Amino acid sequence: MISNKMLTEEEKSKRRRYYYKNKQRILQQQREKYNNNPEVSKRYYRNNRDKILLRDRIRNKKPEIKLKRKKYRKEYNQRLEVKEHQKNYREENKEKIKIQKKEYSQKIEVKNRGKELYIINKNKINIRRREYRKRPEVKKRTKEYEQKPEVKKRRKLYLKEYSQIDNVKLKKKEYSQTQKGRLAIKFVGLRRKEKLKRVIHKFTKEEWTSLIVNTKGMCPMCNKFIGIDKLTLDHIIPISKAPKGFIYTIEDVRPLCKSCNSKKNNFISKEFGNIQLAILTN
Ligand SMILES: [Zn+2]
Repeated sequence: MISNKMLTEEEKSKRRRYYYKNKQRILQQQREKYNNNPEVSKRYYRNNRDKILLRDRIRNKKPEIKLKRKKYRKEYNQRLEVKEHQKNYREENKEKIKIQKKEYSQKIEVKNRGKELYIINKNKINIRRREYRKRPEVKKRTKEYEQKPEVKKRRKLYLKEYSQIDNVKLKKKEYSQTQKGRLAIKFVGLRRKEKLKRVIHKFTKEEWTSLIVNTKGMCPMCNKFIGIDKLTLDHIIPISKAPKGFIYTIEDVRPLCKSCNSKKNNFISKEFGNIQLAILTN
């Protein structure tokens, strides 16, 4: 065949017309020729590599092609032999993959995209995180990790530095002066006692709050007005007298003013004590 460059405009257009008229037949012929002779298509690829790659890159951006590729990818990844191969590859190239991942996550554009996505999906991500942490195997792993001496040391140091930040100090102070903050701090104290004596508190902060709010700030024992914030949590059976593993429900605690609470000390008050003692001794 004579090359296009050698032809006059008229001949070129004649050729073009012929091509469009017989396009399907010509393509079919070419296809057969290439399929029967892989060397031809290989040679064509070698000679036109950049052109082909560019063409593919443009084509791959079309939505319908994208969808097709995605579907194919999914099916491909689910094949057993592929899964096996991928697993083997990961096993053999552990270090390489680790480095690649690290480099990728260090890229600024990746970091920024991550930040953006986090802001958009914050609630969803946090719920998922919380659910993940609740899994028994994760809980166990976390606990083991936190028990390591070097981790403990690092954490302590970090917390110390963190609490020194002025902004954090201020926020902490502000929080501790709100009613919610005060109650929360008391609750932390409760947990500490719980740990010491190995008793269990089976009521929520909300239950306790509603109990306190119901008093309208009056101490039920001396009937003096103290204010909601100043009422303290009284264990009707003192923690020191409770057996190991004793469960305090919301019925086993009450709000008292500080003075009544300290006067009561370790005695079990009469009006509640008898019932509770019966439970204890049985
Ligand atoms: Zn009182």
